Amino acid sequence: MNKHDGKGLSFAKRIYLPRSIGLGIGFFSVLATLYPTHPSGWVWALLVFNGFIWPHVAYQLARLSRQPYQAERRNLIYDSLGGGFWAGAMGLSPLPTVTVLSMMAMNNIAAGGQRLFIYGSLAQAFGALVAILIFSPAFNPGSTPLQIYACLPMLVIYPIAVGLVSYQVAVKLSAHKHILSKLSRTDSLTGLLNHGSWKDLLHIEFGNCQTLERNTTIALIDIDHFKNINDSYGHIVGDTVLKLMSDALVRKLRDSDLVGRYGGDEFCVILPNTSRQQAFEILERLRLAMNAHHDVLLPQLQIGLSVGIASYGPHLTDAAMWLHEADKALYSAKSSGRNRVVVATTEPPQFAWSNPQLE
Ligand code: GH3
Ligand code: MG
Repeated sequence: MNKHDGKGLSFAKRIYLPRSIGLGIGFFSVLATLYPTHPSGWVWALLVFNGFIWPHVAYQLARLSRQPYQAERRNLIYDSLGGGFWAGAMGLSPLPTVTVLSMMAMNNIAAGGQRLFIYGSLAQAFGALVAILIFSPAFNPGSTPLQIYACLPMLVIYPIAVGLVSYQVAVKLSAHKHILSKLSRTDSLTGLLNHGSWKDLLHIEFGNCQTLERNTTIALIDIDHFKNINDSYGHIVGDTVLKLMSDALVRKLRDSDLVGRYGGDEFCVILPNTSRQQAFEILERLRLAMNAHHDVLLPQLQIGLSVGIASYGPHLTDAAMWLHEADKALYSAKSSGRNRVVVATTEPPQFAWSNPQLE
């Protein structure tokens, strides 16, 4: 698929209104100059077509095209060709020529950058040459009051229309940027912070603990025998358990706590201003709540959690060491029988609790 295919139609839609306005008002700028020269019927017909019918034809051409983006760029070149043709037909009369051609150049640069500007300018020059060859118009350097007034609406209204469309695009882009940035920080299954962004926050929190001397505790939480849940009930149930777990974390923790999915069946939390005793109690409640989970459709399903927690201390040299302590505590929870919360300490674990039913 061409990289422009997806955005083609919205591009065509975006151009539709400014083109309709620009060519509609441009009609009067050209009319005021051509009228005194009494052009033939086909010239009038062509001018009416270009001013009022072409914008709708152009939109349909893009809409019905398999590649609307390319079709719309072609349409912009046809616009320039038409603008050049009318400039030539007016004998390059300075005011309407500059008005029509410069407004088109502005549109081309806004829609397609330098490249479209260059191709558009070449198309304008070619269109002007064709018209000069057909009509051999006389060059008139002055401007009549009618020409001046007929150009004013174009000079005032068209830049507003183009500016408005550009502003709307900028607002949309900014919203998309916001969404993308959020998605890049979020785990798609659970909606929690992903591994990378949680670790970034851990580094920041480590710095806060050092400078503000605050008491923060982190925890790594791993679902016990999760592979068995997947194997026994299937991955969809496995995913549901992961979502249950993330919902429970969000419900049981405070807004200021930072909850992430470390990967697979492992979750990670930062509990700012929380002592190891408080953290132990919070995570113990979470563990018990998950143990108590009962699904009538899956009465055999039991969820056990192993949790390793580590509080900040001045002996920690960096965030990686802090995380390593929590990881060691988690390992200790697993190796001492699972379904328990273990607090990291240089001495043997201080708090531990197990549920023998889940062993
Ligand atoms: P332990 O008690 O030692 O933690 O054993 P475990 O079975 O929980 O641990 P293990 O690391 O062996 O298995 C984790 C499993 O999680 C393996 C992997 O297939 C599964 N898993 C990882 N990501 C996902 C996911 O997004 N959805 C589901 N359903 N399963 C996942
Ligand atoms: Mg596990």
